[in-house]
Amino acid sequence: MLNKVLIANRGEIAVRIVRACQELGIQSVVAYSEADRDSLAVRLADEAVCIGPAAPARSYLNPPALISAALITGCDSIHPGYGFLSENPYFAEMCADCKLTFIGPSAETIRLMGDKVIGRQTMRAAGVPTVPGSEGELKSVEEAIEVARTIGYPVLLKPSAGGGGRGMRVAYDESDLLRAYPTARAEAEAAFGRGDLLLEKYLTNVRHVEVQVLADSFGHAIHLGERDCSAQRRHQKIVEEAPSPVVTPELRARIGADAVRGITSIGYVNAGTLEFLMDQDGQYYFIEMNTRIQVEHPVTELVTDTDLVRWQLLIASGERLTLQQNAIRIARHAVECRINAEDPARDFLPAGGEIEFYLPPGGPGVRVDSHLYAGYTPPGNYDSLLAKIITYGDTRDDALNRMRRALHECIITGIKTTIPFQLALIDDPAFRAGRHHTGYVAELLQRWKSEQAATVA
Ligand code: ADP
Repeated sequence: MLNKVLIANRGEIAVRIVRACQELGIQSVVAYSEADRDSLAVRLADEAVCIGPAAPARSYLNPPALISAALITGCDSIHPGYGFLSENPYFAEMCADCKLTFIGPSAETIRLMGDKVIGRQTMRAAGVPTVPGSEGELKSVEEAIEVARTIGYPVLLKPSAGGGGRGMRVAYDESDLLRAYPTARAEAEAAFGRGDLLLEKYLTNVRHVEVQVLADSFGHAIHLGERDCSAQRRHQKIVEEAPSPVVTPELRARIGADAVRGITSIGYVNAGTLEFLMDQDGQYYFIEMNTRIQVEHPVTELVTDTDLVRWQLLIASGERLTLQQNAIRIARHAVECRINAEDPARDFLPAGGEIEFYLPPGGPGVRVDSHLYAGYTPPGNYDSLLAKIITYGDTRDDALNRMRRALHECIITGIKTTIPFQLALIDDPAFRAGRHHTGYVAELLQRWKSEQAATVA
């Protein structure tokens, strides 16, 4: 069993990992930047070590600072959480070189799946359906045009090294594509240090459905059903749920088996997620794999009664995954709202300030993963996630009704949050009926904003 884990992350996920360590009797050390000295994770962990200034490049994205923090404090392993260095193969390699267990898959696997072009090719070779598009990375704008002619417009230009929904461009015809190509390359270069692009058919009216997988180092791999993350703003998830309202047990078995075949083909170890887009006929297409724990993992935990972060630690300790596929049951419905420090009435403008008062919701069927406390001022240097409110119930409606109660009950003063829009979303008739798609929130937001304006006027 691992003895002492360095947590190379912050915010709610650092707290989540501290909790899992404590329950397993593993020592935890939180690596924190100067801006996070007062964070909840620092208070809760067994130890804490400062790794540098607030700027992520000099702390949470600085491998030497993290590795030396782990070595100085006598850790035998590093949990990278999500974001930051969690999908950086060089970091995983450096950990291995320093005899630190990286809690995640091998550097080689991260490298394979971190590149969307190679990820797609690998999954296609394993018989997993992918979105129609370019074979490999685009060599020229002429090639982009040729591929677009074959698959038909609209098409999507995507950075091969992309993440967080950034740098994608839709083209509706050839002149669009001619214009978009150089911009997309430049954007990808600026954001990810690599201008490589791939081209995919741009699918509309689709759902984002992703499959959670777990695999141990003895070749045993399972899936834990799907999450539906179709409620997105600018390609970023805002509400997630499990199971998907459009996935039948037969479809779940099929997409799950594809996901397991895909990860088995690359000898995947630890927790991971395969993301798909699904059309109205239930046809699904792989888009990418995330080789880490995801923000929305709690909905899967609640419907399958598993602890994914605990399994990450056990698998990294060399333990066997004792869960069997036929024992995984989707027992409930769960929904997660990401509460961000943003003002939905002002186009989700990032909000700042001290949390004056904080009362998280409670009662039956409610879980809150958060690093907030009264008197805390979230630093403005990092992403704006304040809390994840997760509710569950026997049915989707039960879970959503609980979410309405929980959102009303939650008090966060001193800072603007996304709660007002989330309340509107969970009671929206199309969302309630489970009829939304990845473009739906943008439509609803337009209506919501004009309603808000009318109320104010
Ligand atoms: P990132 O790694 O930047 O998050 P993804 O490939 O995971 O990018 O895609 C993020 C979101 O962008 C998806 O959930 C979906 O809404 C949209 N998207 C990605 N690929 C396509 C596509 N081919 N057609 C339509 N929408 C897409």
